[in-house]
Amino acid sequence: MIDLQTFMLALGVGNTAFALLMAGYMRGAAGNPALRTWMWARLSSGLAQICCWAAPHLGLPLAEEFAAFGWVGGVALELASYCVFFGFGNWRRILAPATVAALLIVAAAIVARASRAQMTQVVAVIVALFATGAATILLRPQPGAPLLQRIIGVNDALFAIAIWTWMGVANGGLGTFDANPVYGFAYLASYLLMIVNGFGFLLLCKLKDDQRMQRLATIDGLTDMLNRRAFFERAERARQAALRMRKPIALMMLDLDHFKQLNDSFGHACGDDALRLFADTARATLRGNDVMGRLGGEEFALAMPGTSLAGAQFAAERLRNAVAEAPPPACAATCRMTVSIGLVMIDPHEELTAALARADHALYAAKTGGRNRVEIGAPLLRRA
Ligand code: GH3
Ligand code: MG
Ligand code: MG
Repeated sequence: MIDLQTFMLALGVGNTAFALLMAGYMRGAAGNPALRTWMWARLSSGLAQICCWAAPHLGLPLAEEFAAFGWVGGVALELASYCVFFGFGNWRRILAPATVAALLIVAAAIVARASRAQMTQVVAVIVALFATGAATILLRPQPGAPLLQRIIGVNDALFAIAIWTWMGVANGGLGTFDANPVYGFAYLASYLLMIVNGFGFLLLCKLKDDQRMQRLATIDGLTDMLNRRAFFERAERARQAALRMRKPIALMMLDLDHFKQLNDSFGHACGDDALRLFADTARATLRGNDVMGRLGGEEFALAMPGTSLAGAQFAAERLRNAVAEAPPPACAATCRMTVSIGLVMIDPHEELTAALARADHALYAAKTGGRNRVEIGAPLLRRA
């Protein structure tokens, strides 16, 4: 049966390997403070476990004392990396004194020449307290939290329960796997913690980065609407779906009227405010499956799947009215913002870009027809 020392060596090597893996990952990735803190946590725990193994084997002086500090440092740093990851404010004010207190308790136990069993108990209580804190952070009610976060949280909770049970049932005593099932449970939970949390936190950080990148690649930073590329992608998907389901799909091109004047009179920053205001106003009139994006400058496009010409005309008028009636941006109180709209129905035999060109043509007619109006494009002419 595996004895505790061998098990400690396995844990120590595993945690240290994870720390090295993360150090390597971070050299190639953008700076990630949460992951950096996590790497130090893994290294601290790994070295503490290697010391636990080395102390009786090699008879190194102070190895056990060093291990005790390493355990405490490891769990405190783990908790710190969660706080950094979730962007908590003021976490240092709680965690720093708690960590200093924990380290002082360990130091006091060393000075008081606590026995090995007593020292194990002191460290175990501290580790269990910090693990409980970590589980609470990861499992707190938080709408939309990723499953990965919950899995790591359950793992931390399992580890905390294992340590508390071990303290309660076996008084923190040391033994082999088969001596008492509680030892087996505690050892297994520690092993799981190393594997699941080691990979899990790395993946959680990557998931967050991926989501940020995805957002940067698809969302226009000024208006929070889809950018040009994302609009074409989503609108094309909507067109294909409408085609499959034999449903109509409407398409609009929208352009703010005399926007250059607004920019020239009130400044570019005010123009940006007006664009944001327009986007908010438009968003408030849209339905769930409408696809709207900013094609560039003050030009927008809107695809409305499942909407007939009459329905789309009604929606376009409603949007035009909402913009005309919206209060102007604070920086341009005397200004009245309006939008011109070109509307077409996408023909089942027509590409998206061709339909957009027709909508643009209708938009031009709306502009020459006096602006602040909706113009319907001529239907696609089909060869007989
Ligand atoms: P029309 O009624 O014919 O559409 O006139 P317009 O002045 O709106 O048309 P034009 O295309 O000449 O002007 C568009 C202006 O939009 C010019 C440009 O300075 C401004 N613009 C484009 N992108 C941005 C932006 O991101 N922020 C701001 N503030 N202005 C922008
Ligand atoms: Mg314009
Ligand atoms: Mg324009």
